[in-house]
Amino acid sequence: MAAKKKKIAKKPTSTTAKKTKTTKPPVKKGEKVTSPKKSSPPLKVIRTIREMRKYLGQVRGRNQRVALVPTMGFLHEGHLSLVREARKHAAIVVVSIFVNPAQFAPTEDLDRYPRDFSGDRRKLKHEGATVIFAPDPAEIYPESFQTFVDVTGVTRDFCGASRPSHFRGVTTVVNLLINIIKPDMAIFGEKDFQQLVTIRRMVKDFRLEIDIMGMPTLREEDGLAMSSRNAFLSPAQRQQATAIYRGLRKARRLLDSGERDAAELAAVVLDLLREEQNLEIEYVAVCDPETLERIPEVEKKSVLLVAVRVGDTRLIDNMRLHVRPVRKRKRK
Ligand code: AMP
Repeated sequence: MAAKKKKIAKKPTSTTAKKTKTTKPPVKKGEKVTSPKKSSPPLKVIRTIREMRKYLGQVRGRNQRVALVPTMGFLHEGHLSLVREARKHAAIVVVSIFVNPAQFAPTEDLDRYPRDFSGDRRKLKHEGATVIFAPDPAEIYPESFQTFVDVTGVTRDFCGASRPSHFRGVTTVVNLLINIIKPDMAIFGEKDFQQLVTIRRMVKDFRLEIDIMGMPTLREEDGLAMSSRNAFLSPAQRQQATAIYRGLRKARRLLDSGERDAAELAAVVLDLLREEQNLEIEYVAVCDPETLERIPEVEKKSVLLVAVRVGDTRLIDNMRLHVRPVRKRKRK
């Protein structure tokens, strides 16, 4: 591999110039770059609840809006797109990096979940995030901990069916983060569609004073949804995994050609997935994007949800299937 050239930071020409490091990480092909605002304070790393509350107590006094982007780290462009959006809405952007043990079953991949704290910190600094909140598991779940948040209806099917305690872990930790940070808004990816619906439900039911924003899924060039878990895929599995997006697009084309039957739309995805060896289908379903109830026919808005296993790696994806109004062709 060729050695990467480091850009040398220019010395400030004026003595009044603020200390800002200008060394930038290398930019990958296709990567969108937003430069950190000159006024951005240096990226802080906070590991305890006490320190987090103290810090926010100081800055919030200045009437700053706070946005929270919860993550499990090993950040990719999908995560960073949430951070960029957060910066548009809030002066203080808190990114939590916490591989939440409560959302992993004992048989799942908690121990092998990929981690790269220094890489994450470098990326977040470049994006102009304000704070990384990266507590130890014992800080969030001391031995005495015994309270969980359980959203019922929308978590029953799909990922909730195969991972029964997963969403309970997610909503518990998100509720804790909201309580600790008290953000004005929190941003999540639509990639984890059921998670987003579940969090919206929790916020509504608990009357939490926070805006929840959902952002579109960022994809690799071949359409595979970006995910920290993609790192587990062998080149052959990585190729097989592209069948998911190919299937979703085929279903969308079928919808656009007039098909409304949910079983027919799901069938084109299933057929493409079944062509791949060693790809185990968990579910392919068309459902209502708010209630997550399965629907027999697409009327206006719906979402097609997919989960598969490729080897030991579980991948999820989805596509909104909205009936677009028919455009009348202009006569020449
Ligand atoms: P995770 O670290 O996997 O828990 O994800 C943290 C946040 O990033 C969640 O709100 C995810 O939905 C979101 N996210 C993950 N992958 C993507 C992606 N490919 N595009 C957009 N958002 C994503």
